[in-house]
Amino acid sequence: MTDTTDTLDLKAAREKYRRERDRRLRPDGATQYRRAAGEFGYYAKDPYTQRVEREPVEDRVEVLVIGAGFGGLLTAARLREAGAESIRLMDEAGDVGGTWYWNRYPGVRCDIESYVYMPLLEEVGTMPTERYAPGDEIRRHSVAIAEHYNLYPDALFQTRGTSLDWDEESDEWIVGTDRGDRFRARFVITSSGTMTQAKLPGIPGIETFRGHTFHTSRWDYGYTAGSADGGLTGLADKRVAVVGTGATGLQVVPHVGADARELVVFQRTPSTVDVRDNRPTDAAWAASLRPGWQRERMENFLAVLAGEPVEESLVQDGWTATTALQRQILTGAVDESLTLEERERRDELDDLATMNRLRSRIDEIVEDPATAEALKPWYRYMCKRPGFSDTYLPTFNRPNVTLVDTADAGGITRVTETSVVVGDEEYEVDCLIFATGFEVGISGVMSGTLPVTGRGGRTLLEAWAQGPRTLHGFSSHGFPNLFHLSGIQNANSVNFAHILLEQAEHIAAVIARGREVGARYLEPTAGAEDDWVRTVHETASDTRAFQAECTPGYYNGEGSRSIAGAAYSPGPIAFHRLLREWREAGMEDVLVGATVGAAR
Ligand code: NAP
Repeated sequence: MTDTTDTLDLKAAREKYRRERDRRLRPDGATQYRRAAGEFGYYAKDPYTQRVEREPVEDRVEVLVIGAGFGGLLTAARLREAGAESIRLMDEAGDVGGTWYWNRYPGVRCDIESYVYMPLLEEVGTMPTERYAPGDEIRRHSVAIAEHYNLYPDALFQTRGTSLDWDEESDEWIVGTDRGDRFRARFVITSSGTMTQAKLPGIPGIETFRGHTFHTSRWDYGYTAGSADGGLTGLADKRVAVVGTGATGLQVVPHVGADARELVVFQRTPSTVDVRDNRPTDAAWAASLRPGWQRERMENFLAVLAGEPVEESLVQDGWTATTALQRQILTGAVDESLTLEERERRDELDDLATMNRLRSRIDEIVEDPATAEALKPWYRYMCKRPGFSDTYLPTFNRPNVTLVDTADAGGITRVTETSVVVGDEEYEVDCLIFATGFEVGISGVMSGTLPVTGRGGRTLLEAWAQGPRTLHGFSSHGFPNLFHLSGIQNANSVNFAHILLEQAEHIAAVIARGREVGARYLEPTAGAEDDWVRTVHETASDTRAFQAECTPGYYNGEGSRSIAGAAYSPGPIAFHRLLREWREAGMEDVLVGATVGAAR
C-alpha cells in the first residue's frame, strides 16, 4: 500500500467504525443490565450442587482465602508449601474451580493455550489433553490442586463472607458469613474474582417469558440433556434463542445449532472470530519436556504478550500475533524507537490489516451474503475481547440456524410470554438462553457486599473513597494482614492465570517473611502506599481516546468511560521484576513490630 492509500483506508475505516459505534451507543450505558438477583435470582441458582445445611463454624484458622478459583487455590497452595498448616478456602460455589465451576455450558474451553493457562501442571503431575482444554478438564484440575495441597478439610463451600472486622486486641480478623459463622483468621486473602455476577440485559418483559430460560453460567443439562461435549438431545424438538455473541456465545452456538430443531442467534455486536487451531496434545512433545518447562513457557508467553524481547516465541497463536494491538488497553512495553505518532499510525494500519483479514474470513466461510455482512465486526481489534473459533461461523450455514442482528433496535426490544421481539419482528421460541456475560470489576470488597472494617473502625470503602489505595495492588494501610488478588494497581495480561500465580507467590512470600522475622502483623506504611499510588498514576497510559472511539462494551464501560486505567503500565514483566527486587530488599515496608532481623 502507498502512503496515500493507507491514509484513505484509515480515514474510511475510522468513519465506518464511528457510524457502527453510534448505532450501538445507548444513553443508559452500563445501567442497561440487570443483576441475576432478587426478582431474577433464579438465574443465579447453582444447578450443579445440592445445598447442604450445616452448623455455624466458630473456630480459628491461620489463613482464610475467600474465593476458591485459581487465585485462591494458588495462594493456598503456595502458602501450604511455605509451611502454613491451617488454611481455609471459602466460596459461594459448591466446590473449587471459580469460573470453571460455574461455566459448564456446551463447548466451554480455555481460550489461552492450556500449557500456559492451567497452573501447577508439573506440581500436580498432569498434562492437558488438548492445546485448548475443555472446561471440565480445567475444573477437575482445580479439584486436583485442592487435593494435592490438602485444602478440602477446612474448606467452607456454599458460603458467602458478609463481614471482615479487624480485632485490635488479638490482631486477628473476625469473619462473618451468610451461614451464621463467626470465626477468626490471622490472615485474610480475598480472591473473589472480577466477573462473577451473571448479568441479564434489561429487556422489558423477561420476567413474563413462560418457556424455559437460563444463563450460560448456570447451564441446565436437566433440560437440554447432553454434556459440555454436546449431544443436547433435549433440544431436538425445541426452538431455541441464544442472546449474546461474546466469547461464550462463540462456544455455545455451534453445539446448540447442531442439536436444536431451530436456533435463532440474537446479535447486537459481532465478535472477531479468528482461527482456533485446537489439537490434541502431542505425546512425543509432552514426553520431551524437561522439568521447569511450564514456568519457562509461561514466562515466554507473558514476555511476548508484554512486548518484551525473546529469542523464540514458544506458543505462537492468535494472541502472540496481535501483541502490539493489545497494547491499546493492556499493560506492557512499547517500541521506543518510534515516536508516539509513528507508533500509533503503524498500530492503526496493523489493526486495519488484522480486521480486514478477519472480515474476509467471514466471507470465505459464511455462504449467505447478508448473514456474512451482519457478522462482520467494525471496530478496532481490542475494542472487544478477541474471539477464536473454527466452528462458530460455519454454524450459520446450517438451515436450522438464523442470525438476527439487533443493532438498529439497540438490542432486543422486548420479551413476551412466548417470543423474543426485535423491532416489529417476533420470534417464537421454547427456550431462551442468555450468553450475556457478567458484571465486570465487581469484587465483594470493592462493591461493599463484603464490608471490611480495619484498624480504628475505618472501612475499606471509606479508605478507598477517592479510588483504590494499595501497595502493589495487594494490601492497604489501616488493613493489617489483608491481601487482595486483583487487577487493581498492578499489571495485567490476557493470561490472567499467570498473573494470579505471580500474585499468589508474592503474597505467600510476604506472609512467610513476616513469620520469619516475627512480625506482629503485615501492613504497608502510609508512605509506601502513597508512593505506589503515585507511581501507578504517573506511569498510567491514557487509553481514553482509544476507548472513546470504540463500540460500546465492558472494556470501555459501555461507551461511557475507560475502566482500564488503574494498572501499572510498564507491564507484567517489569512489575514482576519490581516485586522480586522489593522482596529481595527485605519487604520492610509491610513488617510491623518485627522482633528479629527485619532490617537489613
Ligand atoms: P460478554 O463478552 O459480555 O458478551 C455478552 C454478549 O451479550 C454480547 O455479545 C452483548 O452484545 C450481548 N448483549 C448484551 N445485552 C444485549 C441485548 N440487550 N440484546 C442483545 N444482545 C445483548 O460475555 P461473555 O461472552 O460471557 O464473556 C465474558 C468474558 O468471559 C469474556 O470477555 C472473557 O473474558 C471470558 N470468557 C472466556 C472464555 C474463554 O477463555 N474460553 C469463554 C467465555 C468467556 P454487545 O457486544 O453489543 O454488548
